[in-house]
Amino acid sequence: ISIGGCNMTIKNLTVAGSGVLGSQIAFQAAYKGMSVTIYDINDEALNKGKERIKKLAKVYQSEIETAKEAYSDKAKSIKYNKNLLPSLDHIFLSKVADSLDLIADLPNQITFSKNLDQAVSDADLVIEAVPETVSIKEDFYKQLAKVAPSKTIFATNSSTLVPSQFADITGRPDKFLAMHFANNIWQNNIVEIMGHKGTDDEVVKEALAFSKDIGMVPLHIHKEQPGYILNSILVPFLESALALYYNKVSDSETIDKTWKLGTGAPMGPLEILDIIGIDTAYNIMKNYSDTNSDPNSLHAHLAKMLKEEFIDKGRTGKAAGHGFYDYD
Ligand code: NAD
Repeated sequence: ISIGGCNMTIKNLTVAGSGVLGSQIAFQAAYKGMSVTIYDINDEALNKGKERIKKLAKVYQSEIETAKEAYSDKAKSIKYNKNLLPSLDHIFLSKVADSLDLIADLPNQITFSKNLDQAVSDADLVIEAVPETVSIKEDFYKQLAKVAPSKTIFATNSSTLVPSQFADITGRPDKFLAMHFANNIWQNNIVEIMGHKGTDDEVVKEALAFSKDIGMVPLHIHKEQPGYILNSILVPFLESALALYYNKVSDSETIDKTWKLGTGAPMGPLEILDIIGIDTAYNIMKNYSDTNSDPNSLHAHLAKMLKEEFIDKGRTGKAAGHGFYDYD
């Protein structure tokens, strides 16, 4: 069953990396009727990916159940996620039943593979969501270039690196661009689509159409910009909060409370960091500090703090149950 499916050129999607974002992209695309394969490096990583997919099925089920409650008791005006299901119309309940059946079966419909050659053999699009480390991404594109069919579009989900950096290594710069998803994509359903100078306009169009087909709001960025739009705003914001914490200006609760009460925002910067994951924050700070010759730069200190106070102690964020805060 495909919920809200439409004419698509891209039908076969391979997601490389089954971590936080890769698993979400794979699940959402499968939910919208794409044929999805997940590639990761070994059995251990794939097993973790399978667990993430099963957890996502539970998240989607609970989103749909909330929509059902909203439909059944309109007087309560329950807020529900409108991205996963169309409006509360007369055939809503049958759509709910279809969606729940579909979601229950999705973990079985997604193919998992540690063999890159097989994983991309019929891919229309490969979305790369491997760690935010230049050398890992470069090695991945070198391997991918050798085995992917010529029709395949490659897209990076990198948060901070720009496509021109990898364009040559992909061996098909005209079919390479960035498609940047936001964490918790079933709610925060945006994709920033950004080519480099050599990306074919038709490829950009395909990426925009595919994003719509999988229920996202595509946002076209016309000029290469490190950090796209979202992270051009978000990274300096989070970095400022980390610097306040590192300099012991205040504690995490007070930093977050100040932001929330002062602006009306639902979450503070350190709560947001826990959701993004401390590993990703560390990688970003480390990349910045590695490109700076000053070993005493603020980025170097922030990277060291994130490693020693958080990552080494297993406090890698909300998904791990511990980060700046403790979670049930
Ligand atoms: P993650 O650490 O949760 O997952 C990375 C996955 O890649 C792991 O499953 C790992 O086993 C796998 N991997 C490692 N080397 C690989 C290789 N050579 N080939 C294939 N898979 C490999 O990372 P994440 O948070 O999902 O981030 C992945 C990418 O998505 C990064 O580029 C990041 O910048 C970007 N991103 C992350 C977020 C976020 O909020 N976490 C948001 C938007 C974009």
